[in-house]
Amino acid sequence: MEEGKIIKALSGFYYVITKDERIVQCRGRGVFRKQKITPLVGDFVQFQAENDHEGYILNIFERKNELVRPPISNVDQAILVFSAANPDFSTSLLDRFLVLIESKKMKSIICITKLDLLNESEKESIDQFVHHYRSFGYEVILTSSILNEGLDPFIHCIQGKTSVFAGQSGVGKSSLLNAIRPDLQLKTGDISQSLGRGKHTTRHVELIKVEEGLIADTPGFSSLELTEITAEELAACFPEMVERSHECKFRGCLHLNEPKCQVKAAVENGEIPSYRYEHYQQFMEEIKERKPRY
Ligand code: GDP
Ligand code: ZN
Repeated sequence: MEEGKIIKALSGFYYVITKDERIVQCRGRGVFRKQKITPLVGDFVQFQAENDHEGYILNIFERKNELVRPPISNVDQAILVFSAANPDFSTSLLDRFLVLIESKKMKSIICITKLDLLNESEKESIDQFVHHYRSFGYEVILTSSILNEGLDPFIHCIQGKTSVFAGQSGVGKSSLLNAIRPDLQLKTGDISQSLGRGKHTTRHVELIKVEEGLIADTPGFSSLELTEITAEELAACFPEMVERSHECKFRGCLHLNEPKCQVKAAVENGEIPSYRYEHYQQFMEEIKERKPRY
């Protein structure tokens, strides 16, 4: 038996990529059928080869995680793509994505695109945010697909991983992939044609091989509602607050109205940027009201 990973599912066939990069077209057959498990793109499987390019899937290995939209399993990380300009960089949207991804127990990588559009003073203000998010422990990559800048760090962080993009349409996700793999020729600029298309059609998801990594061709996290997160889980999604929370007077302090809260003290003395704490408060209210507000 051989092993591989499903990179595409179409018309009852599963396309499995092997370690030596052969793609084998497989049908499902085996114990997982009795267990009512349907193979998903992203699954690590065992298959019986009939010849070099056809076979049968016999076993699905246990999944590390599973996304609903797009339907894909074993995702290592989400690459959060935000443009430095056009559309403007938004820490509020960024913090919302970071919370959603953290709540799925996935790693976040922040990728800021279109750096070429900034003048010196705009660049300085973006640098300030970059400095903040790095200090919270996030990996931040700065790119310009037009100038082919920042591509090596991007390639480095996708190597050997299965990644899914997150981010608004128009931020430059397709352009980034095209810059690395020009043969893909993904359409850009047109929202319905670029990587944002997954929203409105029932297209199947596919993992694209880029350098030594796999990237889903459809962005994840189309719903930005914080519906499944508890107040305690939200508090755990802000690393710079978690770091200080054991110094709070009360165990389980949510840093709202509790006395002798070290998080609030750190916001007051400027150690934690006030916008981060404001977003935290906003998300907390949403969670308590269970009403999404953007
Ligand atoms: P997507 O919807 O996130 O896939 O975004 P696209 O890749 O389709 O890009 C949207 C628009 O931004 C297109 O008009 C691109 O030409 C433009 N764009 C993408 N990357 C860059 C960049 O690095 N610099 C500049 N100036 N424009 C870019
Ligand atoms: Zn506190």
